[in-house]
Amino acid sequence: MLRLTDIQLPLDHPESAIRSAILGKLGITEDALLSFDVFRRSYDARKKTAINLIYTLDVVTDRDEELLKQFHGDKNVTRTPDTNYKFVTHANNQNFSRPVVIGTGPCGLFAGLLLAQMGFRPIILERGKAVRERTQDTWGLWRKRELKAESNVQFGEGGAGTFSDGKLYSQIKDPKHYGRKVLTEFVKAGAPEEIMYVSKPHIGTFRLVKMVESMRANIIELGGEVRFSQKVVDILREDGHVRGISLESGEQIETNHVVLAIGHSARDTFEMLYERGVYIEAKPFSVGFRVEHPQSVIDKCRFGPNAGNPILGAADYKLVHHAKNGRSVYSFCMCPGGTVVAATSEPNRIVTNGMSQYSRNERNANSAIVVGISPEDYPGHPLAGIPFQRALESHAYILGGSNYNAPGQLVGDFIANRPSTKLGLVEPSYKPGVQLGDLNSALPEYAISAIREALPAFEKQIRGFAMHDAILTGVETRTSSPIRIKRNDHDLQSLNTRGLFPAGEGAGYAGGILSAAVDGIRVAEQVALSITQNKT
Ligand code: FAD
Repeated sequence: MLRLTDIQLPLDHPESAIRSAILGKLGITEDALLSFDVFRRSYDARKKTAINLIYTLDVVTDRDEELLKQFHGDKNVTRTPDTNYKFVTHANNQNFSRPVVIGTGPCGLFAGLLLAQMGFRPIILERGKAVRERTQDTWGLWRKRELKAESNVQFGEGGAGTFSDGKLYSQIKDPKHYGRKVLTEFVKAGAPEEIMYVSKPHIGTFRLVKMVESMRANIIELGGEVRFSQKVVDILREDGHVRGISLESGEQIETNHVVLAIGHSARDTFEMLYERGVYIEAKPFSVGFRVEHPQSVIDKCRFGPNAGNPILGAADYKLVHHAKNGRSVYSFCMCPGGTVVAATSEPNRIVTNGMSQYSRNERNANSAIVVGISPEDYPGHPLAGIPFQRALESHAYILGGSNYNAPGQLVGDFIANRPSTKLGLVEPSYKPGVQLGDLNSALPEYAISAIREALPAFEKQIRGFAMHDAILTGVETRTSSPIRIKRNDHDLQSLNTRGLFPAGEGAGYAGGILSAAVDGIRVAEQVALSITQNKT
């Protein structure tokens, strides 16, 4: 099979144009082209009046080898690589203590799925509830201002990404094509087929719920066990080796292999691990606000007269500004046509994030506008980033009126440094509500001044970005984990606790659904090899 890259066609090309482009590129006749598939479709919108679609195509002809020789040296005609996933091992007996996976976010789900597929019958423990019940609880905060500390946007089946935009792209290096395995499993679980080939796939929150249930059923069918409302409160550690875990119920499970896929919000679990002597260090993360604009402003700026074209969908953006005070301000987790959501897991705190449905047809575009911070900003203790986050989240709660409303300010007022008293044309989507006022005290001064400088700079890239009526809500503090639970590069086990496999976003090894899922696969492979080679 041949891979053809950089095949460019106009946005409104007829279906038959792809075939013609292949024939033209390879210089072959119709009968020599046996079949083709679209491997990837992206677009080039730099010229708004002439947007091009860019295809990567996998092509079968009756003379592949001949063509490979003919196009030798042309980087756009190569052999299609084998991207099928290959298991590293299989359980050849049942003579082992079953591995335990803590967490059912994308990392834990994929670690669990892979271990189950390899025959290791994992026990998967989740502190929150199954996804349907969890959905009710999550809506409870948004609709009734009632937070359930163990069942919310961060905790429960599916992990943090369940109520999200379901963006499935990442900038990780992936030489073994693990990302492809993730997308393939997602499609099997009910994701739209197009996620296999569009350059920026997304699923939306509604479908994610069903997919998570389907993956759970698959794990159970393969001999795994998935248990909800089972908070791990201790690890049993002996001579630098994991020997088991304890649940809040008092039950203990003996095991020599624990995958720690607990996400970035399991602050109590981080504290427990630190007290038990697991090696942890502080790491950088980012803090900021969510910004909302009319989606039409973003579409028009990015796509001009082609705004609204269904192939392009709702437009996104990615922005960076290096502020005079040395801080970097950047847009993060942009949700086209989505909503801003209340994402705290702790009472009397406010955390913002964003989500959308597959259709991305809500009125507003939102993204986090965040400032990078590092352990120098919260020195002294490996876990010092946690009180730093908590202080901002608690203060935001007070600024919002101490009733789970988020504090907000219009972009124009924020730039002019005056409090907001009245909404303009952008209706904030955050539920249960937004309390307008002054966000000056919501973040450290260096972050406020960097964002104040960045917004007009972003206006130069997206006309309308600094529009007066766009709205900021805060605070965005859970952009990534404030810690890293360090592991070896070679077998992915904790630096000082054999048998413990820190994984995913909470351990500081992933950021986002796809990279967390990929990390889950990598860790599952190491767990499986460790069991079969009896290495821990
Ligand atoms: P998590 O998904 O956080 O899962 C950790 C799980 O562990 C949780 O279910 C938790 O309940 C459980 N757990 C924690 N402690 C314990 C314990 N002691 N015992 C038992 N269980 C425990 N990323 C994207 O790529 N695209 C997006 O569009 C996107 N949108 C997002 C929108 C929102 C609202 C949020 C909150 C996040 C979004 N993200 C998005 C980020 C993404 O969700 C995370 O990067 C990803 O979920 C991390 O996966 P994980 O498996 O490492 O951790």
